[in-house]
Amino acid sequence: MPKVEPPVTKNQMVELQFEDLTHEGSAVGKINGYPLFVPYGLPGEKAKVKVIKVKKNFAFGKLVEVTEQSPERIEPPCDVFYQCGGCQLQHMSYEMQLEMKHKQVKDTLRKLGNIDVENISIHPVIGMEDPWRYRNKVQIPVRGIEGRLETGFYKQKSHEIINMDTCPITDEQNDRMVEAVRRIAEDAGITPYDEESHRGTLRHIMVRNGQATNEIMIVLVTRTEKLPYEEKIVEEIHKAYPNVKSIVHNVNSKRTNVILGDKTKVLWGEEYIHDTIGDIKFAISAKSFYQINPVQTKKLYDQALQYANLSGNETVIDAYCGIGTISLFLAQQAKKVYGVEIVPEAIEDAKNNAKLNGFDNAEFVVGAAEKVMSWWKSQGLRPDVIVVDPPRKGCDEELLHAMVDMKPTRIVYVSCNPSTLARDLKILSEAGVVLKEVQPVDMFPQTSHIECVALLELKKA
Ligand code: SAH
Repeated sequence: MPKVEPPVTKNQMVELQFEDLTHEGSAVGKINGYPLFVPYGLPGEKAKVKVIKVKKNFAFGKLVEVTEQSPERIEPPCDVFYQCGGCQLQHMSYEMQLEMKHKQVKDTLRKLGNIDVENISIHPVIGMEDPWRYRNKVQIPVRGIEGRLETGFYKQKSHEIINMDTCPITDEQNDRMVEAVRRIAEDAGITPYDEESHRGTLRHIMVRNGQATNEIMIVLVTRTEKLPYEEKIVEEIHKAYPNVKSIVHNVNSKRTNVILGDKTKVLWGEEYIHDTIGDIKFAISAKSFYQINPVQTKKLYDQALQYANLSGNETVIDAYCGIGTISLFLAQQAKKVYGVEIVPEAIEDAKNNAKLNGFDNAEFVVGAAEKVMSWWKSQGLRPDVIVVDPPRKGCDEELLHAMVDMKPTRIVYVSCNPSTLARDLKILSEAGVVLKEVQPVDMFPQTSHIECVALLELKKA
């Protein structure tokens, strides 16, 4: 094949018409079929773009000037939207965000999953009435700037911290708590962590609240084994903020981007805080995964439960169960639920949560879902329904095959990444599983992320 040169060179100025959006939320414009990815552009717009990086099959550009503006472009409410990497879509109307996410789910399932999306119901995205201030958890890095403790967000693709007072997608109370804890730690004389020299003490401040209960957990993550001035800090926090129910110290002494280390110790109060979703109450400890948007989580779980279509006689597996949230939703309508999850603390929480709500029909196991699923299969477990809710990388192939071999009537696949959902659907379809419908739910407004619940059925033999 003749070698085709890219039609642009670095630093060149070009005029583009944007026609689409990438998974990361960048606009896509083409020159003779060659795509340029441009953050902060909107489909439909024309713009002047500076070429930043040229690759063989695509290039990245920087938006210089919008020459024809989309009616869907809005003023982002956040002051640091264009520097912070947290949100990608604040410049886009919420209606357009929902439309683009719907299109993204369809396109991805068609391209990567070979799904006939015109003949399968991929429902419109369930959005939020008020798509702001939804996040129940923040994990804010701490750095020293001119001798002071500063909290903020990492600048995009860097470890430079942008100072920030408020984050408009975070629960306002959590915003204020980060600032309060930063001030208390600074007054006490705590030193900030320095990434380069790997010295200093305080690395992150994590705050999580139960939006239904108003209970707050504070986690102080330090490089050092000891949290200096521990008593003073703890006393100041819980005296001034009575709805703080749990203050936890986590030690992370490694050079790593992972936020939490292995060791956690309760400094004051409970080991967990509570929240309720629907009729079920959950205890959540520091290291357990818990959905960050409780309003949308209720809609997501209701949809999963509806797809599970239980009558009370079924045996159900909930793989990647976290603290047993979906498991207990299912336990309301099933005979027996088995949950599996890899984080031991989360399984402790799950067992606790079953008791807390008086369920005696839920059993939880710590382990890799793919291993435990194969083991359950070998033990003769034959569930009627299987629910999976894997992390972004999707399901392990071993799990997909074990699942099919168990011959459930239905599989409900909850996914936070359409690409891996599509990949897994392709594997499942080759094994005789049929996709029935997909309901996307917007768990992460203002960002390019999208969650889906998919209903699958096994072809009758
Ligand atoms: N269903 C839960 C959790 C979903 S998040 C909820 O809605 O809250 C995905 C979960 O999978 C996390 O709790 C994570 O710890 C867990 N996990 C990741 N890899 C795993 C694996 N190989 N086996 C089992 N669980 C895993």
